[in-house]
Amino acid sequence: MLIDSHIHIFPEIVKNRRQNYSEDDNFRFLYENPSSKIISYDDSLLYMEHDHVDKIWALGFSWKSEKMTDIHNNYIRECSKSDERIIPFASIPSKPFKNAESYIADIKFSGFKGIGEISFYTEIFSEEQWTYIEEIFSSCLKYSLILIMHVNEPVGHYYTGKYVTDFGRLTGLIQKYPDLKIVLSHWGGGIFIYELMPEIRQAFKNVYYDTAASPYLYDQSIYKYASDITGSDKILFGTDYPLLGTGRYLEGMKKSGLTAESINNICSKNAEKLLKVSG
Ligand SMILES: [Zn+2]
Repeated sequence: MLIDSHIHIFPEIVKNRRQNYSEDDNFRFLYENPSSKIISYDDSLLYMEHDHVDKIWALGFSWKSEKMTDIHNNYIRECSKSDERIIPFASIPSKPFKNAESYIADIKFSGFKGIGEISFYTEIFSEEQWTYIEEIFSSCLKYSLILIMHVNEPVGHYYTGKYVTDFGRLTGLIQKYPDLKIVLSHWGGGIFIYELMPEIRQAFKNVYYDTAASPYLYDQSIYKYASDITGSDKILFGTDYPLLGTGRYLEGMKKSGLTAESINNICSKNAEKLLKVSG
């Protein structure tokens, strides 16, 4: 069984007419360049078949506007209705807005399993923004939704979509909401290393990490080292498709020296367990 817990799908209309959506800062920033691939649900089916993926966690996009977020969420919900291999995740506008909590309640009651990947590509991490992020944390906890958050490594080469998240602020929020089931994407930008500190390990007991973009960022030994630090039961296989397919991840995991059991945890067991406990 192979579950890809990090892929982004878009409505056909956005895929086919991307130029029509460029007034949204976040969308323009990430997808103005035609070489940034956009895929629809149909494309994800081809990917699943080709790469032998059994299930996907379908993530949307951090639009600024509520209108585009709604359109995108409806699309993902509709796709998941007729296909149980699609695990639906909702987006939430990246900019603070009124009634975020009731918006998140609606997400829960519409059948989504979680929210994500939340990203703040063109936002400034102001106090207002952090207050909003806290509201997302507390509402996801209240409604038992998994939260997937984009976090980059604060060092190293630049690429589109990379930004620095204050690890101190992020840790503070996780410590305040330790029961929230949260997935920090892209290995949480390396924050997992602090799980070697007993108090962080304790506070991060419900924190998971996904492997998204690994081959572009890290030596393949990341799989083994991360697994040694956090335990292989806290790592989720995610490709960030269409950024990359499964091949380089699976090869890297095998070569890194992970046991078959750890690979099985990462590739399917953890994702299934996480969905179950989040109800
Ligand atoms: Zn991301």
